[in-house]
Amino acid sequence: MLKDIQMINESKADWFHIDIMDGHFVPNMSIGFPILKAIVAYAQKPLDIHLMITNPDFYIERFCKEAHADTLTVHYEACTHLHRTLQTIKSFGAKTGVALNPHTPVSVLEDILPETDMVLLMSVNPGFGGQKFIPQTLKKIQKLKAMLTAQNLSTLIEVDGGVGLQNYQALVEVGANVLVCGNSVFGAENPLKTIDLLKK
Ligand code: ZN
Repeated sequence: MLKDIQMINESKADWFHIDIMDGHFVPNMSIGFPILKAIVAYAQKPLDIHLMITNPDFYIERFCKEAHADTLTVHYEACTHLHRTLQTIKSFGAKTGVALNPHTPVSVLEDILPETDMVLLMSVNPGFGGQKFIPQTLKKIQKLKAMLTAQNLSTLIEVDGGVGLQNYQALVEVGANVLVCGNSVFGAENPLKTIDLLKK
């Protein structure tokens, strides 16, 4: 894992995107705080932490203070009081992200967009790497972009899942600002070169 962190440090990638899975909100578990803190110690770029967990409110303080999240993203589907959750994230000095699963329409975000620094659109069902991109995501990006323009907001649009050299141009063209690349980079023969190509 240290090798991968160093590779990202030396690459043209802008951020570290770290998926936290609880085995409840998604059918898989990822890393806990001890490993996360070890990553944070070596990472030399901003941390974009994506919480795929059922009760994010319980952990916001720890992810902000112990893991030094720059952006902390929670799932719309996991937050009954999303406005309050975002206020809590801000109170710890992190930027706010709201993620939507593929089945959740962007229209549900209309009233929370002013509190949101970034919207993460899941372009696969969360839980596992290496899945196929869901094409409907392109329409969701366009709709979200129109909503942001109508409200005169500069909220970032992040796309997560099945993103790589085959679709990054189409995503950027319709309005995506942040692309999360897992398998397409780490599974590539030359990850650094793949990041170079994606950054173009
Ligand atoms: Zn993610």
